[in-house]
Amino acid sequence: MDKNYHSVIIGAGMSGLAAGIRLAQYGKRVLILEKHHLVGGLNSFYSRLGRKFDVGLHAVTNFVRQGIKQSPLNRLLRQLRLTRELFDLCEQNSSRILVGGQALCFTNDFSHFEQQVAEQFPRRIDAFRQLVTRIRHVESHPLEPFVSARKILQEQLQCPRLEDILLLPILFYGGSREDDIDWTSFSILFCSIFLEGLARPFEGVRRILRLLTQRFRELGGERRMRCAVERIDIREQKVRGLVLQDGSYLKAEHILSSIGYVETMRLCGRGDQARASAGKLAFCESIAVLKEEPRELGWDDTIVFFEEQERFHYRQPPGLVGPSSGLLCLPNNYRYGLDRRLPEGILRITQLANADRWKAILADEGPEAYARAKREQAHALFEKAKKILHFLHPSAEAKTPQLLDLDAFTPYTFERFTGHINGAIYGTPHKVFSGQLPFVEGLQLCGTDQGYLGIIGSMLSGISIANRHLRQG
Ligand SMILES: Cc1cc2nc3c(=O)[nH]c(=O)nc-3n(C[C@H](O)[C@H](O)[C@H](O)COP(=O)(O)OP(=O)(O)OC[C@H]3O[C@@H](n4cnc5c(N)ncnc54)[C@H](O)[C@@H]3O)c2cc1C
Repeated sequence: MDKNYHSVIIGAGMSGLAAGIRLAQYGKRVLILEKHHLVGGLNSFYSRLGRKFDVGLHAVTNFVRQGIKQSPLNRLLRQLRLTRELFDLCEQNSSRILVGGQALCFTNDFSHFEQQVAEQFPRRIDAFRQLVTRIRHVESHPLEPFVSARKILQEQLQCPRLEDILLLPILFYGGSREDDIDWTSFSILFCSIFLEGLARPFEGVRRILRLLTQRFRELGGERRMRCAVERIDIREQKVRGLVLQDGSYLKAEHILSSIGYVETMRLCGRGDQARASAGKLAFCESIAVLKEEPRELGWDDTIVFFEEQERFHYRQPPGLVGPSSGLLCLPNNYRYGLDRRLPEGILRITQLANADRWKAILADEGPEAYARAKREQAHALFEKAKKILHFLHPSAEAKTPQLLDLDAFTPYTFERFTGHINGAIYGTPHKVFSGQLPFVEGLQLCGTDQGYLGIIGSMLSGISIANRHLRQG
């Protein structure tokens, strides 16, 4: 165990893998430790009844077409020395935002969305265009202290409905605090969803994971699976090593942790100090396998972000699942090309969930009650998804989808498989933008809690922290 590694990375999610590749490209000896038997973390996959299901990926954000040079996607490809063909990114069909019965459509062509805003909010279009100009000029370094995006939208747009329409997809794709997000993160996500766009590899997340793991291996990177880190050994304010779950000790002077801020503080024996910062916004997701392609049912949207009430609420729900807002994803509705079709129809629906409530069922009533609640919620979410889609496509109402399989994940599932406290996908609201934990030398954070969100964001975070690490020797 006493091999001399330049860096040890905790976690084989998107950020950990990207950081590992970047360091290994420079000939550094790198080891990734992962507690699960699969790579990918929040963006992984699993098998059930002979089918493979993606866990994370609804949409790869930041999609730009060939020829556009300055973009996060191209920066990522350059830094990892990968070509865009390898990712096989296929563009979305079109997506919708539905608030209080009003729907706006967007595609990967921003002018289409702008046109929709002009048609539905003719008196706010100038303010919207000014907002977009302001967003384009935001530096991609998040601001401290917190600057409220909600407040800026209120002042700039003076239109609660349009404010909600813009916040809905952005909070569902990266909101770690209730009803708001910091202005820089809002702007980064706005660019990645609306000004750039959404895409998906035909094969889903497995394509990306295979690419990353192959590249890491080719470069000589080492990986240990089912190898959870129990403790980070810190003495005289310096990292000295890691204690692993099996009790063994691994010497290490440079550690990159991708597991989250509060989770990393726990490993450093400072969990009490950080506990209050733990994120509490978690989700339930249900995945329905259908006999029909969604298009055959008249459903041609790629993603639908919805809020059934008049105002958008993004809060921890009091019940197991948040009642009125969420998002639907129809992975069949990407442009894979004429000769490529997913074998079955897939409909995913995600809503906010209360981690404490789910864990209480398990603790107080046992695994059977938990499994029953999960099944019930999976059906309730599926019914909700059909209701939303029927509202958007009233002429398709006569066709009833035939359900082949239905599964669900709860906040407990996410916590159990990825270690994120409360199953909070977007981590703590108190991001560590520098990646540096002040009390210790040799330990840095990468991934979601460094403030860069989603698949592309977390990989870029891993790369930027690895680059800094390389500069420091
Ligand atoms: C349902 C869902 C839908 C999503 N949809 C999208 C989407 O459509 N588009 C998008 O861009 N993003 C999406 N995301 C978000 C995206 O998946 C994440 O932002 C990204 O994967 C985060 O990567 P990460 O490397 O920062 O963290 P993680 O993926 O959490 O990686 C951390 C890794 O560390 C491991 N680990 C934890 N503790 C330990 C330990 N003690 N020892 C060793 N290993 C440990 C975990 O098992 C995990 O593999 C979605 C996420 C979910 C859950």
